[in-house]
Amino acid sequence: MSAPDSAKVDQLRKGFSGKVLTPEDGDYDEARKIWNAMVDKRPAIIARCAGTRDAVKAVNFARDNGVLLAVRGAGHHIAGVSLCDGGLVVDLSRMKAVRVDVAKKRATAEGGATLADFDGATQAHGLATPVGINSTTGIAGLTLGGGFGWLSRKYGMTVDNLESAEVVTATGEVVRASASENPDLFWALRGGSGNFGVVTRFEFRLHEVGPDLLSGLIVYPISEAKRVLQQYREFFAKAPDELSVWTVMRQAPPLPFLPAEVHGKEVVILALLYAGDPKQGEELIQPLRTFGNPVGEHVGVQPYAAWQKAFDPLLTPGARNYWKSHNFTTIADGLIDVVIEYVKRLPSPHCEIFFGGIGGATKRPAPDATAYPHRDAEFVMNVHGRWETPAEDERCIAWSRDYFRASAPFASGGAYVNFLTADETDRVRAAYGPNYDRLARVKAKYDPNNLFRTNWNVKPA
Ligand SMILES: Cc1cc2nc3c(=O)[nH]c(=O)nc-3n(C[C@H](O)[C@H](O)[C@H](O)COP(=O)(O)OP(=O)(O)OC[C@H]3O[C@@H](n4cnc5c(N)ncnc54)[C@H](O)[C@@H]3O)c2cc1C
Repeated sequence: MSAPDSAKVDQLRKGFSGKVLTPEDGDYDEARKIWNAMVDKRPAIIARCAGTRDAVKAVNFARDNGVLLAVRGAGHHIAGVSLCDGGLVVDLSRMKAVRVDVAKKRATAEGGATLADFDGATQAHGLATPVGINSTTGIAGLTLGGGFGWLSRKYGMTVDNLESAEVVTATGEVVRASASENPDLFWALRGGSGNFGVVTRFEFRLHEVGPDLLSGLIVYPISEAKRVLQQYREFFAKAPDELSVWTVMRQAPPLPFLPAEVHGKEVVILALLYAGDPKQGEELIQPLRTFGNPVGEHVGVQPYAAWQKAFDPLLTPGARNYWKSHNFTTIADGLIDVVIEYVKRLPSPHCEIFFGGIGGATKRPAPDATAYPHRDAEFVMNVHGRWETPAEDERCIAWSRDYFRASAPFASGGAYVNFLTADETDRVRAAYGPNYDRLARVKAKYDPNNLFRTNWNVKPA
């Protein structure tokens, strides 16, 4: 597969409304930067699309010239699959428009919109759908892999709220996928990641949310971690769908509500959101303050859109990242011991382990209702190996891998496709679980030559 010559690139430029970048362009290096600074790929062409017609042109160009193709939403995937070396990137990161139909409670987001774009537009009308917890994440990749966040216990996975999508297929055709139009494709898009085409538009159902909700953090010292996590497990098992509580184990950032002597010390953070009447939420969360002796708390009623950005300062782009993830049906005592052991030897102040408590509505659909199959996951655990310099790579990656291995005996076996690291190609089947074969059949119909393969690849049946 060779790089296209400049005459061919000029052909692509003709009638392309966005910008076609090659290594000679001044903004090329900026355009190939993504969230994870460990990824350093050099595409031959970055086709920055301004609309669906550009995406069609770029797909046709890659296919007709035998050029490797990658698709970029907001460029957040940890594995850097939104870029490729030497090929063409269909870059949607400038297609960020979000339109809200208040009467119908629907929102349409272009394929490069971030969660901030989406939440900003929908919360202006007191509406929302469940998305992730870091506002610079892309709607596209998040949705195509499943998607979960603070509203998921109440309203399900992001894919459970998808109504339709506009897709540029491998033949360059623009099709709609919904329950009534190309339903096989619609099923596959809801968890089958980027295998089936370029999604230029997503249409979501919206719910009335906030705009002000009870949310915040309660922080315990690591010395109390065992009893805090045990009580968290019992509390969470009985919590209503409106209440989400996640746990984050890390060194305390210098947050103003924490005493100075706690900064930089290992802590257990309970992060919560109540998606209902804040007064009811206040009563419900009271026990969370009695799991031990908190070193600080910051809980109050604030705009949901602000809470959606609360973790942004800990997840800024430009750091080096290596993540590992497991799903769990419960947090066993043995797992708690392993977590505490590894949190006591964090290799960098930026590393953390979190348990996203999902469950609730995410568990109710059957595993084959959508391509996303992990309907038994009560908790999604993620080891955020995160650090600043290449000199720390080996130490931080080793810590992430060791913890991943030590916690594996307690895991339920699935893997969340959106958290897979570049070296985890052996977990692709686990990511799609029992839905793999059906995905392979849909792939054979819509992309028989596997044009869309720079992703967690499903081979055409
Ligand atoms: C800091 C951080 C926080 C996160 N938090 C959460 C969270 O709370 N919940 C959660 O569920 N996930 C979370 N994630 C994971 C996130 O869902 C994935 O990283 C997701 O891939 C991001 O989407 P993106 O559009 O930015 O991806 P990109 O990196 O741009 O793309 C990833 C892959 O998705 C496919 N793709 C992207 N856009 C399109 C498109 N328009 N059409 C077709 N295929 C496309 C391509 O195969 C591409 O290779 C988080 C990730 C990070 C880095």
